Amino acid sequence: MVKIAVIGAGLGGLIAARLLNNLADVSVFEKARGVGGRMSTRRSEPYFFDHGAQYFTVQSDLFQSFIDPLIARGVIENWKPRCVHLDGAQIAERRKNVADELYYVGVPGMNSVAKFLAEDLSISLNTKITKLEHDIKWNMTDETGRVYNGFDWVISSIPAPQAADLIPQKFKYYKDISRTEMRGCYALMLGFEHSLSLGFDAAHVMNSDLSWIAVNNHKPRRSGAVSLIVHSSEDYADTHIEDDRMDVMRHMVTETSRVLGQDIDCADYKTIHLWRYAKAGLADHIDQILLDDESKLAVCGDWCVGTGVEDAFTSAYNLANKIKELVL
Ligand SMILES: Cc1cc2nc3c(=O)[nH]c(=O)nc-3n(C[C@H](O)[C@H](O)[C@H](O)COP(=O)(O)OP(=O)(O)OC[C@H]3O[C@@H](n4cnc5c(N)ncnc54)[C@H](O)[C@@H]3O)c2cc1C
Repeated sequence: MVKIAVIGAGLGGLIAARLLNNLADVSVFEKARGVGGRMSTRRSEPYFFDHGAQYFTVQSDLFQSFIDPLIARGVIENWKPRCVHLDGAQIAERRKNVADELYYVGVPGMNSVAKFLAEDLSISLNTKITKLEHDIKWNMTDETGRVYNGFDWVISSIPAPQAADLIPQKFKYYKDISRTEMRGCYALMLGFEHSLSLGFDAAHVMNSDLSWIAVNNHKPRRSGAVSLIVHSSEDYADTHIEDDRMDVMRHMVTETSRVLGQDIDCADYKTIHLWRYAKAGLADHIDQILLDDESKLAVCGDWCVGTGVEDAFTSAYNLANKIKELVL
């Protein structure tokens, strides 16, 4: 049986692994202690935060046909937030969801989608692949020095800058990968024992170092504990990417208080996370399947197609089907 290694257990890696799993011997390697990547949920009882992807929309029939069974299984539900645009402390414009742009979320957390897809897959967690070598087959080494031998194919499904560090430079599409930049994002997580009166459930923030505020517990089937998620702007994150995290957290708390017009420094729980590679720049998409059928190395990720969850799906789906055509 053809042996395939998939690096990365975000949505893309899991989709590729599932599509090939019955036809090949597939092993997934993930550096984190859980699956989901940028579609993750941080838990600090009683608070829950989807600190990466907030929701997703559906553009293509293909993606719709992928999520429909997950909706039927109760893994994905619609989220209907009162969504506003905030400019400073002013509510600038109330935005209503239109029928063709439904917001979907994993339930009870964004990571439920990845957990569902990971069932029955062979996944090594806490395993960061640091070296890829090809002789007749692919051999991989993790950061502890452990070697994994004998793969016919390797699929990389990790953010572009991380792929550029790992993929051999002679890979046919190496230049496309190495020129793809990804922007950062800080996620501030705030938990409150008391209720908050904001007048909205989700807000796009303009003219600020913040870009987004969401009442995470408003999403379906979340716990009641008030859990606020605040994202920085990409510009702020990129400019302050090496700053002391406590300084960044203090700044974002102050800015959130200013934008909301109420002091949120009184939060009962506060923490911050940096997504160093949150989203690709809009001009950077490669829009082709990154696959070399001579060396049997393939690369996918949201950044190949766009910036969001559906793009991660599309990239992995197209890649896995191409590999199916070639080898199975
Ligand atoms: C703050 C933020 C907000 C977002 N908001 C939205 C939104 O509202 N709507 C939307 O549609 N999209 C949103 N996105 C984008 C969305 O999360 C991504 O498009 C999607 O999750 C990408 O999936 P992926 O599988 O391509 O990559 P990832 O989810 O990044 O998966 C890659 C995986 O590879 C692992 N990995 C990396 N290097 C290695 C290695 N060397 N060895 C082993 N494992 C490795 C990582 O730990 C990770 O689990 C957001 C992203 C962020 C960060």
